Amino acid sequence: MEKRILLSSPHMSDEGYELAFVQEAFDTNWIAPLGENVNQFENELAERVHAKGAVALSSGTAAIHLALKLADVSEGDVVLCQSLTFSATANPILYQNAVPVFIDSDEGSWNMDPVALEEALIKYPNTKAVLIVHLYGLCARLDEIVALCKRYNVTLIEDAAESLGSTYHGKDTGTFGNLGIYSFNGNKIITTSGGGMLVSSDVDEMKKARFWATQSREPELHYEHKELGFNYRMSNVVAGIGRGQLKVLDLRVAKKNEIYNRYKDALSSIEGVSFMPLLDNTKPNYWLSCMVLDPKLGSPVELIHALDSANVEARPIWKPMHLQPFFSEFDYVGNGFGEQLFNTGLCLPSDSKMTTEEQDYVIEVIKGSLGRA
Ligand SMILES: *Cc1c(COP(=O)(O)O)cnc(C)c1O
Repeated sequence: MEKRILLSSPHMSDEGYELAFVQEAFDTNWIAPLGENVNQFENELAERVHAKGAVALSSGTAAIHLALKLADVSEGDVVLCQSLTFSATANPILYQNAVPVFIDSDEGSWNMDPVALEEALIKYPNTKAVLIVHLYGLCARLDEIVALCKRYNVTLIEDAAESLGSTYHGKDTGTFGNLGIYSFNGNKIITTSGGGMLVSSDVDEMKKARFWATQSREPELHYEHKELGFNYRMSNVVAGIGRGQLKVLDLRVAKKNEIYNRYKDALSSIEGVSFMPLLDNTKPNYWLSCMVLDPKLGSPVELIHALDSANVEARPIWKPMHLQPFFSEFDYVGNGFGEQLFNTGLCLPSDSKMTTEEQDYVIEVIKGSLGRA
């Protein structure tokens, strides 16, 4: 292949919706930080996921940080955090000088294991919040996790950075917890080049987050500050891209679903190959299609190198946080499933711009590398 086939890359609408909203911002001189696109993007996203309130921010990481602050997570508090994730989930816990305790995933959901979660809730009575992830757009075991958070009276935060458009029992991921976050980074299912959103059913909390995100500036004529502030608001230009992208979210989910099913149909008959699990009554957004190899077929790293030589991008599954040198001092509760997945799994190219011919090519390279050509 001359053109590299990518894992997931920005995909603007054919109709040019994004540029039209950005043009509007230029035409009406809305370039300065806040403006109509930001307000409308918040309203449109909240409507889309059926959340009462939303705050557009500079990144998903900023949204996680403010979610932790709203949960009153502060120095010394414990936050039970999914270990199998991107570091952006866990870093904001340290921004608040709190203590992450990493929780394993289970085989059936690839997300936080409710059994390990309960064990940790008992072990750490000073837990302030639980931070779950809907990895690769797969839904976590929300029924069990929501019930546990209620029973132990802790705030539930959903990192739905990868799962905008995924539904669990018909309801959007990101709206089950007290707080939810989405990301619009360049490789996510929809993108604004960079950005994030915090959602909640508590409109007052969203007002508070908006206040903190604009340097905690008091409503005075002069600049008055009573609290620590942050510069976390999304720009009005970027929000225009988001409004356009939201219009094609369903199209992107449909295409990613198709990509997943084509991989599965073509490859799952190979002995030792399996695909990411789907919980009953859930509709993932299939952000990335992930595959697991029985060790007798070789390591995913070999396959990733073979794909790379064929100009195809693939990646290992996230390396769990409790195995990261930076987080090694913190406790971990689990049975090593995340580590096993890291050692045996990989993310296949799932770019919504990928043609069926290109995907067939990827499939042939995989078959060839696994000796099944
Ligand atoms: C991308 C991502 C984030 C961070 O979002 P940014 O917008 O890049 O800050 C957080 N958590 C997970 C699981 C992600 O994949």
